[in-house]
Amino acid sequence: MTMTGGCLCGTVRYEIEGTPQFVGRCYCNDCKKETGTGHNTVVAVADAALRLTGTLTDFARPGDSGADVVRSFCPKCGTTVVGRPARMAGVAMVRAGTLDDPSLVTPMAAVYGSRAVHWDQPPAGLQVFPETPPRGN
Ligand SMILES: [Zn+2]
Ligand SMILES: [Zn+2]
Repeated sequence: MTMTGGCLCGTVRYEIEGTPQFVGRCYCNDCKKETGTGHNTVVAVADAALRLTGTLTDFARPGDSGADVVRSFCPKCGTTVVGRPARMAGVAMVRAGTLDDPSLVTPMAAVYGSRAVHWDQPPAGLQVFPETPPRGN
């Protein structure tokens, strides 16, 4: 399967080859700031499976682990297209809302559920981790 997507203005486009490693929601405070709302939804793919065209601007900030999370956004329209946590080398977290057809993916779990605000709670039936999943999963 190939999925396509891009930023709001269309300067940055991408293709994802194959099946995502996982799809999840993140309720951490940095994702609130990034998205301007209560949570992020990310599609984790191998970096090698992501073909980007156009130029992104990077913003790095340490995550909870202390390792940087690099968020890459279109400098023209500001859409964050992908994030790369240093502690998950080789994985690209594509922002699900940038897919041309976001209905192609289904979140499997939520992380940082303990930080979800009352007006944006995880839906019933979704596996929710209070913080990150235990190591070894
Ligand atoms: Zn753009
Ligand atoms: Zn987050």
